[in-house]
Amino acid sequence: MNSNAVIAIHGGAGTILRASMSASAEADYHAALHAVLSAGQRVLADGGSALDAVSEAVRLLEDCPLFNAGRGAVYTAAGTHEMDAAIMDGSTLEAGAICCVKRVRNPILAARKVLERSEHVLFTGEGAEAFAAAQGLEFAEPEYFHTEARHRQWLLARDQHRAMLDHDGASLAATPSAEHDGSNDDPTPHEPIDPNRKFGTVGAVALDRRGHIAAATSTGGVTNKQVGRVGDTPLIGAGCYADDATCAVSTTGSGEMFMRMVAAYDVAAQMAYRNVSLEEAARDVVMNRLPKIDGRGGLIAVDARGNITLPFNTEGMYRGFARLGETPVTAIYR
Ligand code: ASP
Repeated sequence: MNSNAVIAIHGGAGTILRASMSASAEADYHAALHAVLSAGQRVLADGGSALDAVSEAVRLLEDCPLFNAGRGAVYTAAGTHEMDAAIMDGSTLEAGAICCVKRVRNPILAARKVLERSEHVLFTGEGAEAFAAAQGLEFAEPEYFHTEARHRQWLLARDQHRAMLDHDGASLAATPSAEHDGSNDDPTPHEPIDPNRKFGTVGAVALDRRGHIAAATSTGGVTNKQVGRVGDTPLIGAGCYADDATCAVSTTGSGEMFMRMVAAYDVAAQMAYRNVSLEEAARDVVMNRLPKIDGRGGLIAVDARGNITLPFNTEGMYRGFARLGETPVTAIYR
């Protein structure tokens, strides 16, 4: 039995502005991350697989409206929600993913079913929803995914997009708190991330007691994205990757750049072909390679020896990790 069992999670990276983050908001994020890590830790302590631990952690993050996945997902340009998720088992290299689903309550559970019950890896839109329905998964109405904060964020992004078409770069200046009147009972009464540079994907990586690793990632995408746009999250190798021989990775950030860099797989490839450590490979991808094409964000990664790393090139990334028998560690800023 491996005594290094560990789980790490993220709740998105971006320009997390200390100035607009109240002490109570900060406490809410820490508490949410802590609760999810504790749940993941329990799965591992009970002998559950890394795959079970990351599924459960991401399911809980999807249910938490503080994060951009499942409930609390961001809005598309059409004012709708389109969610993506992926999961991979490092012991078998089996993977499952879905994208552009609108009504599946927990996209990560649908991805897991794809991994377990389908010969395919990735389902999209209506086909993904039909598959999820056939597997008996729970569906939710659009209102379930709605939060006031994300809706405000979308209106702001939409307006600024218009300004951008007018080449009015100046109006793109961040106004993160201007929209907030604080007068509602929304469960996300604050938005400490600049909505223009807001990435809020969730993810988890874990090493179980048998020495296997897994990764899972889930997102609502980016605010005001075009309908049908798919980012890195559901693409195996870009937003999610796991191989016992190297590492398990879950990313968050500007999806287009993570796709172009095949970011998650690049960490594994550097370990395999360049023979560097997990930390060095992850740092190179996040701090050197992604910035070359303006890629902003971060990732979490674990290897089969229990090393973990959580690098990001933005101001902050909601994140944390928990080893068996130890108090979970959570963090937000650099
Ligand atoms: N990477 C995600 C996407 O491009 C966004 C995020 O990480 O928040 O869809």
